[in-house]
Amino acid sequence: MKTFEFVRPADAATAIAAAGEAKTAQQSADLRFLAGGTTLVDLMKLNVETPARVLDINRMPFDKIETMPDGGLKIGATVRNSDLANHPTVQKDYAVLSQAILQGASAQIRNMATTAGNLLQRTRCVYFRDTAMTCNKREPGSGCSAINGFNRSLAILGTSEHCIATNPSDMCVAMAALEATIHVQGPDGVRAILFGEFHLLPGDTPHRETVLEPGDLITHVTLPPPIARSKQVYLKLRDRASYEFALASAAVVMNVMGGNVSQVRIALGGVGTKPWRSPEAEAALVGQPANDANYRKAAEAALHDAKPQSENGFKIELAKRCLTHALTIAATT
Ligand SMILES: Cc1cc2nc3c(=O)[nH]c(=O)nc-3n(C[C@H](O)[C@H](O)[C@H](O)COP(=O)(O)OP(=O)(O)OC[C@H]3O[C@@H](n4cnc5c(N)ncnc54)[C@H](O)[C@@H]3O)c2cc1C
Ligand code: SF4
Repeated sequence: MKTFEFVRPADAATAIAAAGEAKTAQQSADLRFLAGGTTLVDLMKLNVETPARVLDINRMPFDKIETMPDGGLKIGATVRNSDLANHPTVQKDYAVLSQAILQGASAQIRNMATTAGNLLQRTRCVYFRDTAMTCNKREPGSGCSAINGFNRSLAILGTSEHCIATNPSDMCVAMAALEATIHVQGPDGVRAILFGEFHLLPGDTPHRETVLEPGDLITHVTLPPPIARSKQVYLKLRDRASYEFALASAAVVMNVMGGNVSQVRIALGGVGTKPWRSPEAEAALVGQPANDANYRKAAEAALHDAKPQSENGFKIELAKRCLTHALTIAATT
């Protein structure tokens, strides 16, 4: 009699992906996991993504949001952005995450988009999305059309001579400030990746955007227990009020005691080649009086290493004002 080995769905998915030598979420992978499809299908229609196979992971049991024994939160990989943003615990204890998600895309897209898919969304650089143009991220070694081209919306932090593309996610900026951890199941087992170590700077390999390896499937994301009495703000500045990506954004999680900043976590969006946590801005603020002058000092520290391109120098001051204003809102609400 023929026997069958029982394989859990996630094991099966990673085994299939690894067998095909797929890089899963990396450029040029021959197999891709399909979640909400709002990034992947878009790019397949443009011939930017051309996987030989697409593996639908929507029926995997990764659609739950659960409080963990330590008080933290476990968010399944296929939890829809809308469900996450509107979850009562997220709204109460991780408000910056709810605010960030609700300021992204549209209600329809948020209803489809998933937690893992959002972590892996691709840049909106117009040359990446146009196969007639050279782009090192899409086609390694071909050149970067943006450096001497239309780069108004691109990055000023973490760029390289090979790529200056912005990471477009709002959700990721909040997750950086909340110190999330990303949990992955791969061919060699499970592992946890600190949020700050998940996305890679472009360097000379801009096609490689994360530390994911062939066959890696994101199963869930965890958030540490909430910071008691923290004020949380996500402020997003963009060309129009809705359905638009950030030119600059700031996520702030802050505690003020006796007029001084006792604890603060800061991340920026719209300006970095990855979701941009700013330890420099945090160090400039902790222990200092919570006032406008110190917010501005923190913003100066955050943008100290900014390197503008031909069209996006305005982002330096915009990002400083964005962070200063986010800190002011956090301290006064
Ligand atoms: C018109 C438009 C406007 C938008 N505006 C914004 C905005 O303002 N702000 C913002 O932040 N975002 C915006 N987005 C992007 C949107 O948030 C992303 O497209 C979405 O979050 C991607 O999630 P998804 O589940 O649809 O991913 P998919 O398209 O299904 O997948 C994206 C990538 O992740 C991989 N993947 C998915 N799940 C897993 C997993 N579990 N393990 C490993 N790999 C996986 C896929 O293989 C693929 O490479 C916009 C999108 C559109 C189309
Ligand atoms: S900035 Fe990056 S994504 Fe845009 S064209 Fe250059 S290499 Fe491609």
